[in-house]
Amino acid sequence: MIDLRSDTLTKPTSAMRQAAYQAEVGDDVYGEDPTVNNLEETAAEMLGKEAALFVTSGTQGNQIAALTHCRSGDEVILEANSHIYLYEGAGFSALAGVQSRPLQGVRGAMNPEDVEAAIRPEDVHFPRTSLICLENTHNKAGGAIIPLNNMKEIYQIANKNNIPIHLDGARLFNASVASGIALKDYSQYTDTVQFCLSKGLGAPVGSIIAGTNDFIEQARKWRKRLGGGLRQAGVIAAPGLVALRDNVSRLADDHENARILAEGLANSKGLKIESEVETNIILVNVKEAGFTSEQFLEKLKAEGVLAGSMGPNTIRLVTNYHVSKEDTGKVITAISKATNNQ
Ligand SMILES: *Cc1c(COP(=O)(O)O)cnc(C)c1O
Repeated sequence: MIDLRSDTLTKPTSAMRQAAYQAEVGDDVYGEDPTVNNLEETAAEMLGKEAALFVTSGTQGNQIAALTHCRSGDEVILEANSHIYLYEGAGFSALAGVQSRPLQGVRGAMNPEDVEAAIRPEDVHFPRTSLICLENTHNKAGGAIIPLNNMKEIYQIANKNNIPIHLDGARLFNASVASGIALKDYSQYTDTVQFCLSKGLGAPVGSIIAGTNDFIEQARKWRKRLGGGLRQAGVIAAPGLVALRDNVSRLADDHENARILAEGLANSKGLKIESEVETNIILVNVKEAGFTSEQFLEKLKAEGVLAGSMGPNTIRLVTNYHVSKEDTGKVITAISKATNNQ
């Protein structure tokens, strides 16, 4: 089986397993796990932030951001198809007690003017706008890269209004490798950043959230309240360090394979690539080929390829380090067979 359901399916490399085995550990709730401390310092340095915190998942990182930046009854501006809004179980309202204000973006990028217009003035009727969330790359927009200038404009508006920016950068490394824009250049237009070690970077567990020393101190307390204070966490932080050392530049291979796949699929009758492929995600509309996504996924599975559903007629293919260049040819053949054998 060639598995393109997600880049979260990546299994730890042997270097990661070795690193986990050999990791120096301590009690991280006491701040005494040297491997966790090393990972947090390394990540903060890469992002150009004062401090970072190792958290269990991207979702936990995003939730901690809302809990730390906001008070119950506040409002958060975010993109209408963002992961936080669609795929985190309404955690923002359930946990932080905040209301989401979704704005429809273009390829995941909100219009800065819309953001400015959505910021609430002081009024007895209104919630306080206390956070703006961005997502780069944007998952639902097909791994779209949010332009640096868009981030800059929104950051300037936010600054003028004293509102922090949180970046859901689950795949920020994909954006950086594909665009050639340094991580720090992206994160300079944010107050806090979350990125996933466990997607294309291939670590088995964990995310990073980064920001100021003061923010991270408060975030650490929220993580503890959520039950995310871990003990000898060096065994899971060590693979994260390997991911940052070994697996960043190779994301370019995933992007190249995604491009090859998209070009190959463009020739299949009835298939439409929904959104320009900039990184490792391909959204394919199968409606004109006469299928629902579920039907098409079944056909693909019979041909030895697994993909995911992103709507009634949309399937998602995500390249990752278990998918080789050679595999892309097999996937194109499998898809062409699936479209022809109705
Ligand atoms: C995967 C993802 C998350 C959540 O990360 P988990 O580790 O799965 O909780 C958040 N935002 C985006 C854009 C994602 O793709």
